Amino acid sequence: MRKLSADYLFPISQHPVKNGIVIIDDRGMINENVIDPSSLDYSISDIEKYNGFICPGFVNTHCHLELSYLKGKITEHSGLDKFIIELEQLRKGVNEKEKAEAAYNAEQEMMYGGIVVVGDICNSNATFELKNKSRLTFHTFIESFASDPQKADRAFEKALALYNEIGKNSNNQSASITPHAPYSLSKNLFLKIKNFTEEKGNIISIHHQESEEENKFFLSKDGNIKEMHFRFGVEKSDFCNSGSRPLAAIADYIAKNNPVQLVHNTASVDVDIDFAEQNFKNLYWCFCPNANLYILQKLPDFALFYNKKCKITMGTDSLASNKSLSILNELKTIWANAPFIPLHELLTWATLNGAKFLQLNEKFGSIEKGKFPGVLLLENVNVEKMQITRDTSVRILI
Ligand SMILES: [Zn+2]
Repeated sequence: MRKLSADYLFPISQHPVKNGIVIIDDRGMINENVIDPSSLDYSISDIEKYNGFICPGFVNTHCHLELSYLKGKITEHSGLDKFIIELEQLRKGVNEKEKAEAAYNAEQEMMYGGIVVVGDICNSNATFELKNKSRLTFHTFIESFASDPQKADRAFEKALALYNEIGKNSNNQSASITPHAPYSLSKNLFLKIKNFTEEKGNIISIHHQESEEENKFFLSKDGNIKEMHFRFGVEKSDFCNSGSRPLAAIADYIAKNNPVQLVHNTASVDVDIDFAEQNFKNLYWCFCPNANLYILQKLPDFALFYNKKCKITMGTDSLASNKSLSILNELKTIWANAPFIPLHELLTWATLNGAKFLQLNEKFGSIEKGKFPGVLLLENVNVEKMQITRDTSVRILI
């Protein structure tokens, strides 16, 4: 049994508690809800007291572990279309051992950075074994794409085979089949995934409005994504020049009543957010700001999402488009660009919201009795202002 305390304790399920105390048993389970020492008329002995903030373990809802071997290999700031083209070229010619080592190092980096749960996108089974052995908890999104309607069956069958494979061999791993992005599937393929998702009650995670080019693709005939389709041999896409904004164009092709996470949202504006909130029952918006800076040097309109009280989650994206897989580094970027967002809110995005979206909140996401959320200490913080700083670091307490 350990009793931990810090300048402020952020249970997330309730407001931060000054000098709050949490009691954890030997298995890592929270023994009772956070104690506010100012409300006690007795004192508790044997407390480990730290400088800084205590919070639950981080939840990374968007990663591509299998792309870890591309760390530092793709040119920065070159735009989404060039990123995808470079990625496709670099995917060839790397041996499996190198890929497996890079994925392992990435998994370790996440663990030592305080991440306890990962929503991970897969196009292959390359990381399945690693995930089985990992101390982290994973939800795997088997990602499917094919803009050519003729290729819908083959793409879906490939995804289904991976889905069945992970179901058979995994300890405790959940999975779903998910569309890649609004512009990269045919109506046929979207509908196959939609039927499957509704039947299984699965969760969906789709890249969304990562760049302005995506809006262009749906609203006009030209743009880099159209060119990219040509390059990959797709002559006509079902959604090119559909005349609607991306999500409006594909909304009927997604399971709207299932939990849906939209990832990136760098080019989302007021009308996009309103449409999504009105049409999807259980919606989450995932930010991966450091990946947006890497590819586009552009960030989502954080203030807009915050003011509209959207449910936000945090992702790192992959090492192909990020220099680290650190949720703390992502939070620092948001804090530096939107310092008016309270730390309690940022930490909610990085913990409980992600756990809820991934349907793992019975165990993770907040410091509450009966959960096993992991316990982190944020050091080098501004206690008076209750803010993180550029120098904040994370230490794993449990
Ligand atoms: Zn991604």
